[in-house]
Amino acid sequence: MASEPTHDRPPHADGIDDASALETARAQLLRASSYVDIDENVLERLAHPTAVHEVTVPIERDDGTVAVYTGYRAQHDDVRGPYKGGLRYHPGVTRDECVGLAMWMTSKCAVMDIPFGGAKGGIVVDPKSLSPDEHERLTRRFAQELRDVIGPTRDIPAPDMGTDAQTMAWFMDAYSMQAGETTSGIVTGKPPAIGGSPGREGAPGKSAAIVARETCRDEGIPLEGATVAVQGFGSVGANAARTLDEWGAHVVAVSDVTGAVYDPDGLDVATIPSHEEEPEAATRNAEVVISNDELLALDVDVLIPAAIGNAITEANADEVAASIVVEGANGPTTTAADAILTERGIPVVPDVLANAGGVTVSYFEWLGDVNRRRWSLADVERELETAMVDAWETVRGVRDERGVTWREAASIVALERVAEAHTARGLWP
Ligand code: NAD
Repeated sequence: MASEPTHDRPPHADGIDDASALETARAQLLRASSYVDIDENVLERLAHPTAVHEVTVPIERDDGTVAVYTGYRAQHDDVRGPYKGGLRYHPGVTRDECVGLAMWMTSKCAVMDIPFGGAKGGIVVDPKSLSPDEHERLTRRFAQELRDVIGPTRDIPAPDMGTDAQTMAWFMDAYSMQAGETTSGIVTGKPPAIGGSPGREGAPGKSAAIVARETCRDEGIPLEGATVAVQGFGSVGANAARTLDEWGAHVVAVSDVTGAVYDPDGLDVATIPSHEEEPEAATRNAEVVISNDELLALDVDVLIPAAIGNAITEANADEVAASIVVEGANGPTTTAADAILTERGIPVVPDVLANAGGVTVSYFEWLGDVNRRRWSLADVERELETAMVDAWETVRGVRDERGVTWREAASIVALERVAEAHTARGLWP
């Protein structure tokens, strides 16, 4: 594989340095390739994105001055279907970060057997520095700058860090105005009023809960009364915690960036405000507050890191005392930590499977857009349950057959599907 130029390493938006998102994705690709009968040329292709579009996005600030921002859209692979992936607004966005995250999207869609490829994009901007009007102007101009390389059957963005359903609504409106027709399938994660799917917001957390439930069953841990610790009480963490609580598990600790609330008898997680309901308020009424490091070291049945990348590292992996780790966040376990947990016999169910409910419900939303058919919440929940259990069983089957880890098994499933599609289609011309 060709080497990449070296870069300064500003902190990655998720806490991963930017080179490592790409390096980790490439290392995972290489590792999976050792188990898969794959053409070297296809492997070489997959180590690189198909394209990375860099654009400048000028906007008029509220004070009348003009500010120019840099935006990216990395398109990794579309052999199985249109590129798919989020747009993030964050000062730490880089080209390489977008490429690494786009590679993970290719894997995530392939693990779920969704007919999409992988992409990721974003703008180098602190969204907190923008007024709502500036956020809207930036988004509309970004949609315009990208319009030649995206499309509802070509590349379909979604929300990510610093962007939300409203951002997607502006993006869709700008694209539709230029197209001369309402093109709801250009983005997913829209407000329900314009085609957004019910259940989309809670889907990544819900999928993490389904994966935790199935893995507990596999490990012989009864879900009723199983103890759970969740790092991060945001969209992913709060939905995972509340779902597992409804299913009878005892969620004993949840955290936000300020610390963790702990009760060995189980918390009433429905009454703890999520990040969206009230930011950084998880510990406000807590009787016992512990640190995030202490949460990660709790002796629980299930640990769900659902806040940031690189939460479990070489420095603290020896302290993890959970029976199972289910990755709610993207990239919460470093490669070195993963090796330590494997050595210690702690199964780690990877992000590309555990939080894939988000892209899965995005796919349902897109199906509704292109078919002009609305899905009910019951439709979404039923199909998500089926899709997650099917994917989990496929990955478990490969884990058992090959004697590999959950992460390796998920990478093998993804790579086999992508490689098979490349082989079937061949290289043009
Ligand atoms: P969010 O902003 O809704 O919530 C994040 C939570 O993590 C908050 O409670 C915050 O206080 C806490 N947090 C932040 N920094 C922390 C730190 N250093 N230590 C402990 N807690 C910290 O975010 P989210 O949407 O739930 O995303 C969480 C993770 O899941 C991210 O890695 C994200 O990329 C990933 N993810 C999100 C989605 C989605 O659709 N929301 C889908 C897949 C993956």
